[in-house]
Amino acid sequence: MNAAGGPADAAIRRGGPLLDRFGRQHTYLRVSVTDRCNFRCVYCMPAEGLSWMPKAELLTYEEIGRLAGVFAALGVQKVRLTGGEPTVRADIEALVRAIAAHPGLRDLAMTTNGHNLERLAPRLAAAGMSRVNISIDSLDPARFARLTRGGELARVLRGIEAARAARLLPIKLNAVVIGGENDDEVLDLVEYARERAPEVELRFIEYMPFDARWHQSVPSATLRQRIGARYTLRPLPREGAAHGPARSYLVEGTALRVGFISALSEHFCATCNRLRLQSDGHLRTCLAHDDTPSLRDLLRAGADDLALAEAIRAMVMQKPEGHEAQLQGGVPFEGVMTRIGG
Ligand code: SAM
Ligand code: SF4
Repeated sequence: MNAAGGPADAAIRRGGPLLDRFGRQHTYLRVSVTDRCNFRCVYCMPAEGLSWMPKAELLTYEEIGRLAGVFAALGVQKVRLTGGEPTVRADIEALVRAIAAHPGLRDLAMTTNGHNLERLAPRLAAAGMSRVNISIDSLDPARFARLTRGGELARVLRGIEAARAARLLPIKLNAVVIGGENDDEVLDLVEYARERAPEVELRFIEYMPFDARWHQSVPSATLRQRIGARYTLRPLPREGAAHGPARSYLVEGTALRVGFISALSEHFCATCNRLRLQSDGHLRTCLAHDDTPSLRDLLRAGADDLALAEAIRAMVMQKPEGHEAQLQGGVPFEGVMTRIGG
């Protein structure tokens, strides 16, 4: 039944790459493994009143592992585990092992808030994880605790060192910048990352306004100007689409690469190669498109790998051309990022 290298795998591969109507090829899958989190970041979750998805509705590890095999046969090369916080799901290494077993997957990564990484980094590396992205929006302990509603900065910093020691490299540090909240720390974050480069890279993520209370998005051009006051930023050639949407620069005179991800001001829909498997099994082909059928229901109804692959191809064909207008108009906030997986 599993697609890893069997006859179904070959049949799926014969169908060619995973293309949409606009000719975009999909090689990157983000998997939200849980909607739960040990933080409540102000831009991501409300402080309280969240209802978690019942366990029975979550994809099991076996289901995710099997779907990963089907996606690999469809040409997906890179898988990223995210959430919610992936490290709060029990025995996450078991899932890493199940996914890493599939031939064809070249890159298995995770996006994490780093709170549990000191303990988990060596285990993730041993299970087959290639590298991690770690979110860190402030280097000030009190502000960090306020932005994450309870996160302990020192613990995350230890998590970063543990990931370095486990060679989960390069580590991309992700900082969401909110005007009036942490935009005065842009250069501090650059210094912190510069001291650890090239093992560490830094990316500034433009805040997406899921909640009107946190609307002070800082355009990437402004961030580049601020860094430009101290350093020269040399544009790096755009990497292939499989490497993601960041515009990358080398901080001249250092080994540090800095990226800017601007879903709003410099949106990257035209080269989008990503798909999002939600924790409930829905395949989200675009941030702003949420009415795709559930792969979990198909799996649980007994679909074989070939049928799953055909269903995935059909969903990808329905992927819209872009999301900019929809995001500007607002997307329902509660639980959006955590279920979709950021
Ligand atoms: N819990 C993990 C973490 O924080 O890294 C993984 C999930 S989190 C939803 C994935 C990424 O989405 C994080 O880097 C987070 O900063 C980012 N994110 C969450 N809400 C956002 C928003 N409203 N705008 C932009 N980025 C956001
Ligand atoms: Fe949790 Fe990540 Fe969302 Fe913060 S951004 S609340 S750590 S899922």
